[in-house]
Amino acid sequence: MIIVMRPGVTRQEIENVEKRLIELGFKTHPIYGEVKTVIGAVGDKRLLEGHNLLQLPGVESIVPIMKPYKLVGRELKKDNTIVKADDVEIGGNKLVVMAGPCAVESREQLFEVAKKVKEAGATVLRGGAYKPRTSPYSFQGMEEEGLKILSEAARYYGLKVVTEVMDTRDVELVARYADILQIGARNMQNYRLLKECGLSRKPVLLKRGLCATIEEWLMAAEYVAVSGNSDIILCERGIRTFETTTRNTMDINAVPVVKELSHLPIVVDPSHGCGNWKWVDAVSRAFVAAGADGLMVEVHPDPANAVSDGNQSLKPEKFAHLMESLKPIAQAVGREL
Ligand code: PEP
Ligand code: MN
Repeated sequence: MIIVMRPGVTRQEIENVEKRLIELGFKTHPIYGEVKTVIGAVGDKRLLEGHNLLQLPGVESIVPIMKPYKLVGRELKKDNTIVKADDVEIGGNKLVVMAGPCAVESREQLFEVAKKVKEAGATVLRGGAYKPRTSPYSFQGMEEEGLKILSEAARYYGLKVVTEVMDTRDVELVARYADILQIGARNMQNYRLLKECGLSRKPVLLKRGLCATIEEWLMAAEYVAVSGNSDIILCERGIRTFETTTRNTMDINAVPVVKELSHLPIVVDPSHGCGNWKWVDAVSRAFVAAGADGLMVEVHPDPANAVSDGNQSLKPEKFAHLMESLKPIAQAVGREL
């Protein structure tokens, strides 16, 4: 439920209401809006029986939350959430572009790609050090060595790092090197991992599961939020359908639907969505036009020899061209790039 506070309410009154809710067994999440402050209270509403919160100073009304996701839904928070990875904002007027190879393969590869994506205007460097591969015999990632290379290259070129964490045991380690923790599509319903990332202070980029509905995806985000971390970026990366020409089917509907249902920012990953570099440009442009808050794009200096996802990776020059072509579209929908 949502405890709506009166305009002009004092800090002390807000804290008193929170204290009372916690005593009754609720988890509280105050949201200080421009006009109004509300307190999200998560717990069994039967705990309220015999207690009239409306009598507490500063309380204006109590509104139930109808949707199953409470903290990440629009009912609780009307304003868009802007997630900050230091000085990079995701969900504000400026679109954020995260780019880099599927996997960190070597120092040379990563420094080269970091330089090129930075020059083209990306602000976040992507690259997997722990790779979720279909075959256990495929390259599994450079692990901590890869994380070190990522963070060194990012620091050198003034970029932030987003990288995948696959296991609860690695969250602390990955968070030491990353600015944003990526939860991959295959782990979207790994609830222990969601909770562990919820305990981290680093923003979380939560990819949509291979076959997840939008509601299941938002419920996964709710796990992160209720564990204490509301800095969540949703990432549409295509879902499985009967279509096999493309690797996945990009769900463009997800952008306006998520924007309506949730206050969280949404970025899109056309590389995994298409599975072929040739379609990445057109799909990226469509998603910017639809209102996405940013893109995650795979870029490799030598896609033909990439250890993973070379087929869907753009060469740096093609990426730079894509960035240029996105500018008028961003402008047309009132965004900056
Ligand atoms: C990736 O970003 O490299 C990746 C494995 O993505 P997904 O989890 O969307 O398949
Ligand atoms: Mn990949």
